[in-house]
This record gives sequence, C-alpha cells and structure tokens, in this order.
Amino acid sequence: MAVARRKWTCYICGDDVVEGQRFTVTSKGFVHLECLYRRIAEKGLSNDIVAYMDALEVLNYAITRFKEAELIAASAEVRAALQETRRVLEAEAAKVTKRLVEAAGVE
Ligand SMILES: [Zn+2]
Repeated sequence: MAVARRKWTCYICGDDVVEGQRFTVTSKGFVHLECLYRRIAEKGLSNDIVAYMDALEVLNYAITRFKEAELIAASAEVRAALQETRRVLEAEAAKVTKRLVEAAGVE
C-alpha cells in the first residue's frame, strides 16, 4: 500500500515536520518533540513536567508502532481496527501535550 508522506512546519525551529519524525501538536500547531522539550527544559523541569514528558513518550511510541502495524496489516479490516485505536491514542497524546505545555508555561 502506498502511503503519501504528509509534512507540516515546526513552529519552534521552522523546519519541516515529516510523518515518521517525532512530533506532537499543540494549540500553536505542529512541533518536533525535541524542539518542544528543549523549550520546556529552558524554563526548568519539575517532577510534574518530567512525569508528563515521560507519559507523552510512551503514547508517541505507541502511535508510531501502530502506524507501522497498519502498514504491515494485509487486510483493510485489520488496518481499520488498528487505525481506530491509534486515533484514540492520538487524542490522548493531544490531551497530555496540552497539559504538559500548560504546566510548563510554554503555551
Ligand atoms: Zn522543530
């Protein structure tokens, strides 16, 4: 199955954000995770911030793995089932990102 690679622009570094890279979305738009973490780190890390960052790492890893599984899936049925779960994970990752940027005061 051919998959078109989509791309956006990181609002911190201005470079492309390409699907397959580590990124997240905030109210400001798309951002590389590393760029966001660097900005957060500049403000100082509390245990609350580190906890959110750690949780976000797990969700983003899961999302990446689900995307890979969708590419491996042979049937449209299995691909759709995996996609459905990934969308839930993406929504949860967006919630954690929102809480993270608010707690870190970088939004
Ligand atoms: Zn960036």
